[in-house]
Amino acid sequence: MKKKYAFLDRDGTLIHEPTDTFQIDSLDKLKILDGVIVGLQKLIALGFKLVMISNQDGLGTASFPQKDFEVPQERMLEIFRENGIRFDKIFICPHFPKENCACRKPKLGLLDEKFRASIDLERSLMYGDRETDRLFALNLGIKFVQVPTNGHFPKIGTDYATYVRNLPAGGLGGEDCTDFGRDLRRASLKSLKKILAASEKK
Ligand SMILES: [Mg+2]
Ligand SMILES: [Zn+2]
Repeated sequence: MKKKYAFLDRDGTLIHEPTDTFQIDSLDKLKILDGVIVGLQKLIALGFKLVMISNQDGLGTASFPQKDFEVPQERMLEIFRENGIRFDKIFICPHFPKENCACRKPKLGLLDEKFRASIDLERSLMYGDRETDRLFALNLGIKFVQVPTNGHFPKIGTDYATYVRNLPAGGLGGEDCTDFGRDLRRASLKSLKKILAASEKK
């Protein structure tokens, strides 16, 4: 059976992207953005599998040693786990743009054939803050959710059907979105209440 994925850019979408170096290479630079925890919890409650996809320029070179990436990355994943959030897959392109690799967003090279075959294209979404994220969604043929860089993660509320219907079509016709929204709304009524009740107790 095909799966409904929420693809998520990392820097500027889930965590704060430094405006000078664009590099999160130490623990003190790690800041999870507003609305991200509850937003990801809701996506999970709505039946999405989470997939992180990120370009990390020069990862593993002197300009961005592997260890400097891993420390804040591991801490971030730990915070997510503590909040019941797990990622099914994490895809990282470690190349510089000049290397012209096949895996840098908006290219699709990080997704192998088997994984691509598992994607429910009509129901999957891509969240990101850059044009490359939008083009990635377009290349894959899924809908795109624009996130403000270092801003608040898009709110997914009781009007989720409208929210999804109004998303720009990334290779999809507008008709498909009506059923999509209705299904989501139905799924959300039960599972959202459960998750919200649990998070309010904390
Ligand atoms: Mg970004
Ligand atoms: Zn690459």
